[in-house]
Amino acid sequence: MADLGRIDGRTKLLGLLATPIGHSLSPAMHNMSLRKLGLNYAYMAFEVGNQELADVVTGMRALKIRGFNVSMPNKTKILPLLDELSPAAQFAGAVNTVVNEDGKLIGHITDGTGYMRALKEAGIDFVGKKMTLMGAGGAATAIAIQAALDGVGEISIFNRDDEFFERAVKNAQIINEEIEGINCKATVYRLEDLEKLKEEIESSDILTNATGVGMKPLEGQCLIPDPSYLRPDLIVSDVVYIPRKTRLLEMAETVGCQTLNGLGMMLWQGAKAFEIWTGQEMPVEYVKEQMFEVPVR
Ligand code: NAD
Repeated sequence: MADLGRIDGRTKLLGLLATPIGHSLSPAMHNMSLRKLGLNYAYMAFEVGNQELADVVTGMRALKIRGFNVSMPNKTKILPLLDELSPAAQFAGAVNTVVNEDGKLIGHITDGTGYMRALKEAGIDFVGKKMTLMGAGGAATAIAIQAALDGVGEISIFNRDDEFFERAVKNAQIINEEIEGINCKATVYRLEDLEKLKEEIESSDILTNATGVGMKPLEGQCLIPDPSYLRPDLIVSDVVYIPRKTRLLEMAETVGCQTLNGLGMMLWQGAKAFEIWTGQEMPVEYVKEQMFEVPVR
């Protein structure tokens, strides 16, 4: 049993390399799942930044650790330290999950699969549908790539004129020209072009906020100026989960939209990592009961 009080000579190690790390929900989520299934692993959080990352990864190899998550600020810096990348991680240029397969460190990105799985669990059929995606940072990039891989038909990417705009252009180029065997068209617009934003949302099935707007220090803010941009049959989702209900989701509820916050994405990205390491499905209903007061949709 991988009960933290009962670690034995066969317990395998899992972990998280990030900083700051104290607020992370991942150790609780993984350890309670491991205990529930009686799997002999333990998941620890390690305060690791860019500077010590290479040494830590060398140490992880030497310790034959089974795998680890990577979060801010290490998601892109880890790439050259790994032996192989999943296609999604390669296209996104980022990794949040590493698995050690007989000494080979393989990087995956499960944020995008987490987001798409959350949509699926909420009964949303996204294949062939149109998504308006706000953002082009880490979360938005993972979502854009995975949405294209999973069959979303069209993605209108909006980003403000900041250092992430170039990444928005790159994401669209990867989707339109580099990923083979998909049927998705991506277009990039500036978030400042509100007329275009309104027009693209009008012809979309799903609107996704994948920026930090709505979360501290931008809590109470919203990239959609007013409810006239929304309509009842639009699905509105936010990657933010603190607070559970952002200003965007509040506005969407008043219009009568189906809404999803970022808890589902967080839960399912963890579930995918859990499966990669252990080969078993995370007991997500149990995790939801234990960890989230507000039901995850
Ligand atoms: P990032 O720094 O990589 O990207 C930030 C993005 O937000 C960029 O597109 C930037 O242009 C945009 N942005 C920032 N301030 C803005 C503003 N004032 N107006 C308009 N656009 C603005 O960040 P990230 O890692 O992609 O995280 C973004 C959000 O996603 C955070 O709130 C984070 O907590 C959340 N997130 C959630 C999950 C989950 O599992 N639910 C996973 C990863 C990230």
